[in-house]
Amino acid sequence: MQQSPPRSRITPLVRGLRGRCPNCGSRGIFASLNELHESCPTCRFSFVREEGYWVGAMTVIFALVLIFFGLWFIGGMLLTWPDVPWNPLLYGGLVLNGIVPFLLYGWSKSIWVGLDLTFFPARLEEFRPAED
Ligand SMILES: [Zn+2]
Repeated sequence: MQQSPPRSRITPLVRGLRGRCPNCGSRGIFASLNELHESCPTCRFSFVREEGYWVGAMTVIFALVLIFFGLWFIGGMLLTWPDVPWNPLLYGGLVLNGIVPFLLYGWSKSIWVGLDLTFFPARLEEFRPAED
């Protein structure tokens, strides 16, 4: 088991935002675009901390959709003011809302684990035993 001491209280969140293991900061936690490995290949921290754990990641992906839609819509308005192309902004935003959850769900999981570890640090029993 390996656990890098967090540099600050929000270090796990920053690591999760960077797509790294929120516990140790190592890379390679993604099994695919939308899946994390069961545990970190480096520190063995188990990412699923309890039953129904990824509901939190769904909350994060909802926030990401809102952020990306807001950036698209408000950015589009500011860049084209006063002749705002409302329909392309709206339809582009709807397409964005449909695509973002599929592209960023894995990232939302690492963010969620980081957010959770920020407030509830890892416990010893949450590390998988090393395989011999
Ligand atoms: Zn790790």
